[in-house]
Amino acid sequence: MQEADIQFLEESFKKYYFNHFDLITVPERTSEREFGFQKFNSGMTRHISIKSDKELHLMFMQNIPSDVYCSNAYYTFPNLPMNEKDWKEADLIFDIDAKDLNLSCRGNHTVSICNDCNEISKASTQCINCNSTKLEKKSLPCKNCIDASKTEVLKLTEVLIDDLAITKENIHVYFSGNEGFHVYVYNSQFQKIGSRERSELTDYISLRGTIPETFGMKKFKPNRASFPDFDEKGWRGRFSKQVFGSKSKRSKIITELITNGYSSFQKTLEDVSESIGVKIDPNVTMDIHRIFRLPGSINSKSGLAKIQCNNLSNFDPYIEASFLSDDTVEIIANSPIQFSLKNKKFGPYINEKVAVPTFAAVYMICKKLARIA
Ligand SMILES: [Zn+2]
Ligand SMILES: [Zn+2]
Repeated sequence: MQEADIQFLEESFKKYYFNHFDLITVPERTSEREFGFQKFNSGMTRHISIKSDKELHLMFMQNIPSDVYCSNAYYTFPNLPMNEKDWKEADLIFDIDAKDLNLSCRGNHTVSICNDCNEISKASTQCINCNSTKLEKKSLPCKNCIDASKTEVLKLTEVLIDDLAITKENIHVYFSGNEGFHVYVYNSQFQKIGSRERSELTDYISLRGTIPETFGMKKFKPNRASFPDFDEKGWRGRFSKQVFGSKSKRSKIITELITNGYSSFQKTLEDVSESIGVKIDPNVTMDIHRIFRLPGSINSKSGLAKIQCNNLSNFDPYIEASFLSDDTVEIIANSPIQFSLKNKKFGPYINEKVAVPTFAAVYMICKKLARIA
């Protein structure tokens, strides 16, 4: 990124942090958390401990970070190296990202930036200008991406509440600031469990690694009565609804499943898992030493803020997470994809000089699809 772009982003971010510090949620038990931040074009600074709002504010103003992070874990000594921190417990966090959902819309709004010649195109494997294969993909997620991610959040919330006895009040949903959502679970019975147990939890939630026997199927002489009932709780109930469709079809479909045999059932189970399992990134949930983007901070991949969604179904990140100023700025834009922010449409732009509001300029510069003119 060129110096003028960095300067512009820093100024815009600084203004946001100065005016909207109220949006930054200092997590509970602040002094037990590890904080970290990144500046534009530089590495990560971690192992920071912060005691108050005031200290956090100071950190923002002194450093003007591109990204700010905070641990889900609680430590006795958050500022010491990892093996001396004395891990106590950690909130449960789930990451749902549109890019992991295999959506068919994705190709329509993903571009490739050539690392060798900077050519921007929709080519997916090779630069159309210099044939280089060093392409960096940038996506401008569409409404479908956001809606599909919301669906996964709802599926996850249902499993957390119905199967894992987590109370609704302890589940907080945040827009990640770019392509998805982070779901935080506070004060649950899972606070103290380690990485391996969290991994098992993700297997359960995403319905992975499950065996036909769980759903009544056996290699030899399967018993009709072992198949799930339509109204059962948990995955057996969800399996019934997905596979039987309705109560009246249950018997007929069980006969079919038994006739088709065990390996066919395994295939059915894979399909069911693919369609109704919750699509979360297991690595994120398993990692008990990770630092996560701080709620209220800006995501430098987009210039949008990570904010809590109190009304998920109506939430529109392209309106509600865009906080930067409307001041006009001139940029050279090269964004082959049209996008919408704060109810205004922008682009497509083909290597042209345009004057746009700061929030749109920041979005494109963060996506590497524009530079300051
Ligand atoms: Zn190229
Ligand atoms: Zn999409």
